[in-house]
Amino acid sequence: MKIYLDNSATTPLNPHVLEAMLPFFTDKFGNASSIHSYGREANRAVSEAREIIAECINARPSEIYFTSGGTESDNWALKGAVYVSKNKYKHIITTQIEHPAILNTCAELEKQNVEITYMNPSNEGMINPKELSNLFTENTILTSIMFANNEIGTLQPIKEAARICREQSVLFHTDAVQAMDSQKIDVKELGIDMLSMSAHKFYGPKGIGVLFVKTGSRLGKLINGGEQERGLRAGTTPTPLIVGMAKALEISVRDREKNNQRILRLRNIFIDRVLSEIPYVYLNGNRENRLPNNVNLSFAFIEGESVLMRLDLAGIAVSSGSACASGSLEASHVILSLGVKEELAHSTIRFSLGVDTTEQQMDYVFNVLKKTVDDLRRMSPLYDYEKGIGSYV
Ligand SMILES: *Cc1c(COP(=O)(O)O)cnc(C)c1O
Repeated sequence: MKIYLDNSATTPLNPHVLEAMLPFFTDKFGNASSIHSYGREANRAVSEAREIIAECINARPSEIYFTSGGTESDNWALKGAVYVSKNKYKHIITTQIEHPAILNTCAELEKQNVEITYMNPSNEGMINPKELSNLFTENTILTSIMFANNEIGTLQPIKEAARICREQSVLFHTDAVQAMDSQKIDVKELGIDMLSMSAHKFYGPKGIGVLFVKTGSRLGKLINGGEQERGLRAGTTPTPLIVGMAKALEISVRDREKNNQRILRLRNIFIDRVLSEIPYVYLNGNRENRLPNNVNLSFAFIEGESVLMRLDLAGIAVSSGSACASGSLEASHVILSLGVKEELAHSTIRFSLGVDTTEQQMDYVFNVLKKTVDDLRRMSPLYDYEKGIGSYV
């Protein structure tokens, strides 16, 4: 049995998306900037895709800029705001729980003397937008708060944060990469100035994303070159990827309610079972206010990596901490920011369900997980198996 529960790392390509993309790899290979019929054909497909994507978030087509993905969109939003600002001193507000695409961009900007303030979340992973008012300085140019966290799935109060920023004439950016698939996102209604998305998190292809930039928001360039994307983002237009992204988003929006309901039910049954049938397990992040497909659990007295490898042997793919942190042995910055102790943070596993997840799969996963935790605790020096208690030394 092969079970994929790592949909927050990436999602499988929807077969209808592949079908929509294929002609643009073969017959319709033209450069969308060319004047001849090949070019016009590609250009038409890109325009249509831009319209579809704009409509999905209630933006204008001219506010959609194609990028290479979520990472580039995040880099562009932050660096672009810094490059265009005439302030002598520049200040950005963000959170401790952002994706590395934001946090490492901030670290780079700090080296260039940009001041960064990192808001900390509550112990349930929520950012309090009311704290923003005390953080603005005369130099604040941008606030960036993620729509939904990629590790613990918590949804942030984006509308209120955007409103508070607007009152101070501070640009508001949100990394909506994790939220796109399951959340209804209306950039007008939410008052968002900039938004990042990435196709491979909603069953589209890898290597393509969008930065939405509201008309009138000033933004410097990240990539110099040709005149693509109204002169703001150079590079030959990747027509097949753009067509695929639009198709994927269209399907995601169409099936959203149905998928959310089904996945939420499977997710909640799983959380209830784990919390009631496996001792010393802690759910990270607010129970209600989270993505419908996210489960993030810490299993005291054992290592997350050991759980991950055992599940992998049983055909189950999950993630320990964030995918990006798991190459190193450092505990996840997100889990630590909740106030979880280092040892417990090391025992964290993220299960992210997807459109292909079934009830039978989740039953199997629960059974394997229960046995795995049991086996590993038997071997753990931190756990007295006979007494059923443990302690961290
Ligand atoms: C995956 C992810 C990114 C990076 O997107 P890529 O398209 O893989 O570069 C950025 N932010 C969040 C929250 C993500 O989950």
